[in-house]
Amino acid sequence: MSEYDIVVVGAGVIGLSTAYHIKCRHPNLKVLVVDKFNAAGQGSTAKSASAFRCLFSSYVNYMLSDSSVDFYIYVQEKMNVDLKLSKVGYLWLLCEDDYKELNPVLRDLASKNLNYKEYEADELADKLGLVVHLADDEEAELMGLKDVYKGIFIPKAGIVDADCIVKFYESEFLRLGGEIHYGVKVENILVEPCKPLGIPDEPFFWQESRVSGVKTDAGVLKAKKTILAAGAWIPQLLDTVGIECFIKPRKRQIFAVQTNKPLLKKLLFTKGFNSAGCIPFTILPKPRIYARPFPTEGVFWLSYADDFPRAFKLEENPQPEKNFYECGIYQVLVKYFPQFKDCRPYSAFAGLYEINTLDGHPVVFEENDLLVAGGASGSGIMKADAIGRVAAALYEGEKYALLYGDRKFKVSDLSIKERNIELEKLQI
Ligand SMILES: Cc1cc2nc3c(=O)[nH]c(=O)nc-3n(C[C@H](O)[C@H](O)[C@H](O)COP(=O)(O)OP(=O)(O)OC[C@H]3O[C@@H](n4cnc5c(N)ncnc54)[C@H](O)[C@@H]3O)c2cc1C
Repeated sequence: MSEYDIVVVGAGVIGLSTAYHIKCRHPNLKVLVVDKFNAAGQGSTAKSASAFRCLFSSYVNYMLSDSSVDFYIYVQEKMNVDLKLSKVGYLWLLCEDDYKELNPVLRDLASKNLNYKEYEADELADKLGLVVHLADDEEAELMGLKDVYKGIFIPKAGIVDADCIVKFYESEFLRLGGEIHYGVKVENILVEPCKPLGIPDEPFFWQESRVSGVKTDAGVLKAKKTILAAGAWIPQLLDTVGIECFIKPRKRQIFAVQTNKPLLKKLLFTKGFNSAGCIPFTILPKPRIYARPFPTEGVFWLSYADDFPRAFKLEENPQPEKNFYECGIYQVLVKYFPQFKDCRPYSAFAGLYEINTLDGHPVVFEENDLLVAGGASGSGIMKADAIGRVAAALYEGEKYALLYGDRKFKVSDLSIKERNIELEKLQI
C-alpha cells in the first residue's frame, strides 16, 4: 500500500483550494483528494447562491473575503479564466431600527475607506418599484414586516459561478501533479500509535497516537497528514475520534423564478447600480429574504436562511420544501416587490450550511496529524481561497498565512484553542 504525503477528504471548494495551495508550494508532494461524489464541488458548493461581498465589520471576515475575491478577480482578468464573476453589488434594505443600530458600524467602516453608498427609501421606490411603506397593509402588519427606511449599497460584492472556481482549482491541482479519486467514500479516520509495538488492538490509551489516514469503501489510504475538508460532514467523521469542531449542518433552500412577466424582467434588468445593468443581490428587511439576480439566465434565485426552530440535521439529499416558498418567502417578498405576484418557482434545490456554532466564522486547526478546514457557515465560496491559504500555512507550521495581495493573516485566529474572532455586526 502506498503512503501519501497528504490525503484531503472533500473535493468541495475548500478542499480543492487547500490542495491547490499546498501543491503550489510543494509540487513534489504526493497529494490525493478523495470525494464520495463522482465530480468536484457536488456537496454544498453546488447548492450555493454563489454570491460575495467584501464589506464586513469583523476583520477576519473582511480579510478572508476581500482577499479571496481579489484572487478570483485576478484569475478572471489576468489568467483569463472565466469565473462568471460580476460585481453587481449588494443592496441591503433596512428598517429604521436596523439602520440606527448599524449606522455607527457603517461610519466606522467608511473611516477605514470601505466603500458603500446609502439610498433613501423613496429613491429606491422609484428605481425598483419597491413598496417601502407598509403601514396600511394589514397582512404585512400581521407578519411583522417593517417599512424600508434606507438602502445600503455595497459595490465590491456580487455573483460568481462556484462551479467555475472549483474547476479552476481542480484543473490547476491536477496540472501540478495532484491526484483525485472520485466516488470514494471515507468511512473512518485511521488512528495508529506514533511508535507501533505490533500488539493487536493498539493504540492503547497509554500510547501516543496519531491520525494515519482514512479507511474508505475502496480500501485504506495512508497519509503523513490527513486533511478533513468534508464540509457539513466534518463532525460526522470527527465525532468518531472525539475531536470537537463546533460545526453543525443546517438545511438551506433556493427557489428559482423565471422573469417571463414584463414587470419582473424590468426589475431584474434595473439600470443604474452596476455595469452589468441588473438589480444588485438584494436583501429585504427582517426576515432577510434575499433575491439573487441571474441576469444571464433571466432568472431570480430566492432564499432565506431560517434559524429557530430549523433543526441541525445531516441529510444526504436535502429537499426544498414547497411551503417554505409558498407560505414563507413568497408572502413576504410580494409585499415589498409586487412584481413577483403569482410567480411560482420553476425549480428549487436545497443544501447544507456547515455552521460554526461558536461565531459563524471558519475553523482551521490541527490535532494529531489531522488538519481540519471548514465551517464557513454559508460563506465558503467567497472565502475559499483565503481558507485554503490558511490551511496550507498551518500545514507548513507557519504562524502567519500570506493571503492574496500579500496580506498577513494569523493562522491561529481560526483555530479552536487560540481563536481570535470579533463579532460580525453586519449580519445578513
Ligand atoms: C443554499 C446555500 C446557499 C449558499 N450561498 C452562498 C453564497 O451566496 N456565498 C458563499 O460564499 N457561500 C454560500 N453558501 C455556502 C457555501 O456553499 C459553502 O460554505 C461551501 O460550499 C463549503 O465548501 P466545502 O468545501 O467546505 O463543503 P462541500 O462543498 O460540501 O464539500 C465537502 C465535500 O466533502 C465530501 N465528503 C463529505 N463526506 C465525505 C466522506 N465521508 N467521504 C468522501 N467525501 C466526503 C462531499 O461529498 C463534498 O463534496 C451557500 C450554501 C448553501 C447550502
